[in-house]
Amino acid sequence: ERLVAGGASADEASLEYSLRPKVLQEYIGQEQVKNNLKIFIEAAKMRNETLDHVLLYGPPGLGKTTLAAIIANEMGVRLRTTSGPAIERPGDLAAILTALEPGDVLFIDEIHRLPRAVEEVLYPAMEDYCLDIVIGKGQTARSIRLELPPFTLVGATTRAGALSAPLRDRFGVLSRLEYYRPEQLAQIVTRAASLLEVAIEEKAAVEIAKRSRGTPRIANRLLRRVRDFAQVKGDGTITAVLANEALELLQVDRLGLDHIDHKLLQAMIEKFRGGPVGVETIAATIGEEAQTIEDVYEPYLLQIGFLQRTPRGRIVTSAAYRHFGMEEPK
Ligand code: ADP
Repeated sequence: ERLVAGGASADEASLEYSLRPKVLQEYIGQEQVKNNLKIFIEAAKMRNETLDHVLLYGPPGLGKTTLAAIIANEMGVRLRTTSGPAIERPGDLAAILTALEPGDVLFIDEIHRLPRAVEEVLYPAMEDYCLDIVIGKGQTARSIRLELPPFTLVGATTRAGALSAPLRDRFGVLSRLEYYRPEQLAQIVTRAASLLEVAIEEKAAVEIAKRSRGTPRIANRLLRRVRDFAQVKGDGTITAVLANEALELLQVDRLGLDHIDHKLLQAMIEKFRGGPVGVETIAATIGEEAQTIEDVYEPYLLQIGFLQRTPRGRIVTSAAYRHFGMEEPK
């Protein structure tokens, strides 16, 4: 099982659900995003209007789905959830839209993966709350307009750049989620531990936080593994010593890098003298999808300054060489 990447397994999904903050107040960090949303939500409620469409973007596991649920909750409306790849044809989207109730929040995860034909149905729906349906064929074909209840679309994507301009332009609120600071992640770990009813030393929470690569999903994942370890090896309390021991066993290093990150950086160093090397080439060398590298691995390595993006490809930085105790080529 991959600890620091990948989506949630079914088992984990139910855990994630139970750990999800339900109101903005409980949502830790992302102050700017939260403050903006608070104002928009209050204003919409005061005017008795539907909230404007919201686009949330940023790496996986930072709390986009959680925020969508909070928005619905704070607005006092229902949340409907789907994803870009799940909506294959315009008819699929029409079915979802016509089943909405006034004010509902429709959450579309991975919205950059909507097929183009579906996207085109979404434009008038977002703009004028209506559906244009073509009936008949050839000469006798005509288009009819169906009115939809007003709704709020919350879109989530790991890559805002992959969104078409016409779609992006139809969102009134664009919010970028940032990696969390270690002290915020420690708070998230402490909160999750208390929900899981497991005792944890503050130092242990900090240790887990430091190795969670800025990502709440990973923090919760590591917490769960460390909890298992503490149950078996200790008396159930997660001490700093136990946390460290467990994290070593899990092969997550002190910066939260796992064996795939190591493989990626080491391949770049050993086979390409640290780059520049294209992401496709890196992908082929380590047997990962280029897309996964770009969406999941690279953003954090860029963030901590281990990788740099140049027009000629990626390069490994001095900081990464130092982390591995390796000599940088001249
Ligand atoms: P995304 O949709 O961006 O991939 P999720 O919303 O599914 O991420 O969040 C993953 C997990 O991290 C959830 O279980 C949630 O409990 C936790 N989480 C995310 N953001 C926060 C936060 N700001 N405060 C507390 N927990 C959070």
